[in-house]
Amino acid sequence: MKFDVVIIGSGLAGLTCGIRLAEAGKSCAIISAGQSALHFSSGSMDLLSHLPDGREVLHPLTVLPELAKQAPAHPYSRIGEKNIASLVYQAENLLKKSGLKMKGSASQNHCRITPIGRRRMTWLSPACVPTCELERPLPWENVVVIGIEGFLDFQPKIVASALRRQGIKAQAQEIHLSCLDRLRDNPSEFRAVNIARLLDLPENLSLLAEEISQHSKGHDAIFLPACIGLESGDIIENLHMQVGKPIYLLPTLPPSLLGIRINQTMRDRFRQLGGIMMVGDKVNGVGMENNHITHVYSRNHGDIPLRASNVVLATGSFFNNGLKTEFNRVYEPLLDLDLLENPEYGQWTRQNVFAPQPYLKFGVQTDACLRPLKAGRVIENLYAAGAVLGGYDPLAEGCGAGVSVLSALFIAEQIIAEQAIVASPLSAQTVPEQIIPEKIAPKNIGSREITQ
Ligand SMILES: Cc1cc2nc3c(=O)[nH]c(=O)nc-3n(C[C@H](O)[C@H](O)[C@H](O)COP(=O)(O)OP(=O)(O)OC[C@H]3O[C@@H](n4cnc5c(N)ncnc54)[C@H](O)[C@@H]3O)c2cc1C
Repeated sequence: MKFDVVIIGSGLAGLTCGIRLAEAGKSCAIISAGQSALHFSSGSMDLLSHLPDGREVLHPLTVLPELAKQAPAHPYSRIGEKNIASLVYQAENLLKKSGLKMKGSASQNHCRITPIGRRRMTWLSPACVPTCELERPLPWENVVVIGIEGFLDFQPKIVASALRRQGIKAQAQEIHLSCLDRLRDNPSEFRAVNIARLLDLPENLSLLAEEISQHSKGHDAIFLPACIGLESGDIIENLHMQVGKPIYLLPTLPPSLLGIRINQTMRDRFRQLGGIMMVGDKVNGVGMENNHITHVYSRNHGDIPLRASNVVLATGSFFNNGLKTEFNRVYEPLLDLDLLENPEYGQWTRQNVFAPQPYLKFGVQTDACLRPLKAGRVIENLYAAGAVLGGYDPLAEGCGAGVSVLSALFIAEQIIAEQAIVASPLSAQTVPEQIIPEKIAPKNIGSREITQ
């Protein structure tokens, strides 16, 4: 099987890269071992909320030079300020064209309301999530937070009391829906996704609308746990029309419906563009010649190799086995790539669990094109995108989704440009220059420098 590009991993990074490449007409396969961080995420996407020195970031695009000083190995610093500035708007467009309704902009962070009613800065949030502008009061006066009886993954009282502390009226309520009784009998099944499968049925949605109407008299906004609209956010608009008041969804404990919807929507987009998804398969080896990947082998395809001009490693971090540990060693399991941050065992963590944790910055070492190094040498046709990259802390810096999306687009643009040059060496001017790093400008093809 021969493709232009094989992508390993179908998290936010793999899907973004696949969509962009497929949009550009590349034949592309994504091999995916299992669920991604999206299944556990808030559904909001962070770009940059704090600098490594702890300072808050209100306008992410304006602090990139400072970030480059503080963290030269950060993926944003590698990609470069100019490239980030254009890729970020490309990212917003890609998500929109995929069918995701998100609010927010890279020019200024906004705050989303968290599952415990606090504010957290972010870049993009699903349209149905309650958000507010930075340093501004909450835009509601009297909110009702409605939980579902027996559903332990969302606590309306905690949310309401946090909202009250922010100066608005807020009340907690619980509804009992008999259509959920069968699920309620088995607490381990009483999860957001299973609840949504029942509440999304038209007959149950009307019952839900009636219950919500009764519990929301005198309130100007309704917060619910994200247990509705598994397939599409349109159902929230429908409910809004039936109840006649704005309805917002707060993320619950995993599995996260808001993240799953992003995953599903992006997968659908990739497939519609002609991309091949190999779900439930796992890459277990690659063939290499002269620092060039020649074959990719997977569990399901056995000794039938997948071949591609370029390979993208988007296998995530420890959470999805993109990185692994043994007692005193951290390693990248597929190719044993060089790691950027790899201190002694005793320095992986800090005792204070709320302090930034060193292990979160572990990840693969790359050149300025985001091509990984192995034993100090670049692998020519391999790129690394997303959480498998080292040099940044997605939690403390609030930049997890941003790094995944922007590194994936940065790589996709390089592959598109590179393959355009290979296909038509005399027409290098067709290459979209504004998003190409210097190292891949036409004159430098074939003599890329390694920058560590
Ligand atoms: C629990 C959790 C919650 C998070 N929530 C947020 C959030 O709300 N907002 C935010 O901005 N950031 C969040 N992040 C940060 C997160 O890292 C990024 O947002 C982003 O989703 C990571 O995407 P990724 O594609 O790089 O990696 P992942 O999502 O980890 O995807 C890696 C993929 O690679 C696959 N894979 C691994 N090895 C192989 C193999 N050998 N063969 C085939 N497939 C393989 C895995 O199965 C998985 O599908 C969260 C991270 C975690 C861990």
